[in-house]
Amino acid sequence: MQFKDIVGQRDTINRLTSIIDSGRVSHAQMLLGEVPTAMPLAWAYLQYLCCEHRQHYESGDLRADSCGECPSCKKIASLMHPDLHFIFPTATTSKVKEKPWSGEFQGEFRDFMLDRQGHGDIDDWYDALGIENKQGLIRELDADGVVSDLSLKAYEGGWRMMVVWMAEKMNESFANKLLKTLEEPLPGTLIMLVCESDERLLPTIKSRVQTIRVTGHNSKDKEENAEFAEMLVGWLRMLFKLKMKELSAQVDKMAGLNREQLKLFLQYAQKVMRDCFLNSAAGVACHLGSGDEKFDAQFPKMITVNNIALIEEALDDAIFAVERNAYAKIAMMELSFRLSKALKKK
Ligand SMILES: [Zn+2]
Repeated sequence: MQFKDIVGQRDTINRLTSIIDSGRVSHAQMLLGEVPTAMPLAWAYLQYLCCEHRQHYESGDLRADSCGECPSCKKIASLMHPDLHFIFPTATTSKVKEKPWSGEFQGEFRDFMLDRQGHGDIDDWYDALGIENKQGLIRELDADGVVSDLSLKAYEGGWRMMVVWMAEKMNESFANKLLKTLEEPLPGTLIMLVCESDERLLPTIKSRVQTIRVTGHNSKDKEENAEFAEMLVGWLRMLFKLKMKELSAQVDKMAGLNREQLKLFLQYAQKVMRDCFLNSAAGVACHLGSGDEKFDAQFPKMITVNNIALIEEALDDAIFAVERNAYAKIAMMELSFRLSKALKKK
């Protein structure tokens, strides 16, 4: 994960790289903010910390970044660095029937992180883990793992890093053991808490970690929505005519989004369709923002009780396919045909 792959957050990123460049890296740090935003930053931060050829830029909005090419960058990007460990909430599953802890689910967690490039949230993780309605926790067993992982000699001779993801899920016995580790930090170790709310953390833990607040990117959300709106309207228009050449170009454009963005786009499409249905059923105008009043007025009327379920199902299936790494272009083409058919059922 490089900083350049992260959307927005330039001030926070420049602050993070300057912490490392100053050589004053604290043994315990906390990135506090929504984990789908904070985790990619933590990931890129550790990659920058370990990078053998850090890059510094004279111009542009990023002051520095990891090289992305050195062996260390590659190991951290693939989460295969032997000195990088993760602690996260777990619960019993069909595989681990008792005494669950992070050590049992390292592979699952790594896949989860790699799949979503760090953007998953706690509910996504519980789904991936298959714990159903149970609540995950970070427990004493996890703390024993921290102590043993961090007290080993670093394989690579550099930092030994422990990321505690969703640190607010730690129970009391984990917190007490963590506190001991924080009080007597081992040289060359870094504990990084990634946390959405620090209210439940012990004050003694909070006072020992260097906290960096990560704010959401609302202005970016707006930009993204405008971009999504334009893309969606362009696509919807084509679903009526189905001119293959144009549709194919539009599908290419959508399939060119990265997987997380494509999923967000499909969720956005789903929300718009639902709004169209509810509003047109209620006789209220729905603002698609296409810039074409006639289209904005006519389109919502196409979404009726006869096709809303088909539309939702087609979008659900596409989201599912994208999540499971299907070939985006095929998934989007299939979705286009299904939506086209459904829209004609008004
Ligand atoms: Zn590097």
